[in-house]
Amino acid sequence: MSAAIPVRSNFEAMEGYHSPQVSAEVRLNTNESPFPPPEGWREAFEREVARVEANRYPDRHARVLREALAEFHGIDAEEIFCANGSNEVLQCLLLAFGGPGKRAVVFEPTYALHAHICRLTHTEVVSGRRDANFGIDPDHATAVVGEAEPVLTFLCSPNNPSGGAEPPSLLRVLVGQVPGLLVVDEAYGQFAPVSALSLRGTHARDGGPEVDGQAALVVVRTFSKTWSMAAARLGYLVGHPEVVAGCEQAALPYHLSAYTQAAGVLALRYRADMEARVALIASERDRVTGALATMAVQTWHSDANFVLFRPLERPARKVWEALLEHSVLIRDFSTRPGLEGCLRVSIGTPAENDRFLAALEVALR
Ligand SMILES: *Cc1c(COP(=O)(O)O)cnc(C)c1O
Repeated sequence: MSAAIPVRSNFEAMEGYHSPQVSAEVRLNTNESPFPPPEGWREAFEREVARVEANRYPDRHARVLREALAEFHGIDAEEIFCANGSNEVLQCLLLAFGGPGKRAVVFEPTYALHAHICRLTHTEVVSGRRDANFGIDPDHATAVVGEAEPVLTFLCSPNNPSGGAEPPSLLRVLVGQVPGLLVVDEAYGQFAPVSALSLRGTHARDGGPEVDGQAALVVVRTFSKTWSMAAARLGYLVGHPEVVAGCEQAALPYHLSAYTQAAGVLALRYRADMEARVALIASERDRVTGALATMAVQTWHSDANFVLFRPLERPARKVWEALLEHSVLIRDFSTRPGLEGCLRVSIGTPAENDRFLAALEVALR
């Protein structure tokens, strides 16, 4: 590049984050919901858009939205911070609590954005590892955080892209051990049988230091997946009011538009629809996993709306390309460290999953 003004020096080293937006008839590469939000939500949202005072700044504290989320979770609005997607939530956390001279721990392979936003905010990344089945050994985790003394320790549950939820026993160990905040990214939380939210207010494991789990634990959620609202860009965290206050200081003024706030408030009125979509997608996931088990691929258990698999007899990239020839787009992780040879498919509608499975049969040959 011959730009007269170079970008910040540490940008050069960063690959950036991009999931290629290739056009395809069946798009199963970014874990969105294959279903639109309910018709009732759309109508209510259109009415609300007409009511917004477009010439005025939105409520800076997103009070109505936070109160609706507080009611949804049975907690206080002071324990909730909302932003433009959970990625902006994570960015605010890092701006508020990370930065030069601070460290954050991640356990690879995991969601690439955690380390990426650390680097954007000049927070040093210390990487722990996962085992061959993508689990985290509690002793290893304890050793890594003991050595690194991080301000933030990231978990992703269910873990993207491997799919499994972290066991509560690991969360309990870590919430008692991490010196700073334990951030659990639950973008796929409603698909999983367990949530870190159940640990809130609990204390450390028996014999551990008397740490208030509620102070250390931060749970991050998004409307992008289970709520079928990726276009709206809305995410939030549940955490201690001081964590929320820190994030509010880090966010730009009026960062969350009135339209986004309204979209979220209305979405929460359709909880039953969301739960029905989640149940359907989970049963489709189990069907896809069952079908994959009969093919020449290795798979891993998923508690989310995607499945990681590794073709055993053809190179992953070739399989990915062959699927694209059938206009089926999935995600290629085959060159990512720790994910060698792996592909990830998002669960779509039953018809899309059928197309994927039929194309895969051919692609594996
Ligand atoms: C998809 C995803 C998100 C969502 O990010 P948004 O900014 O809310 O769209 C967050 N975390 C993980 C692990 C994800 O896979």
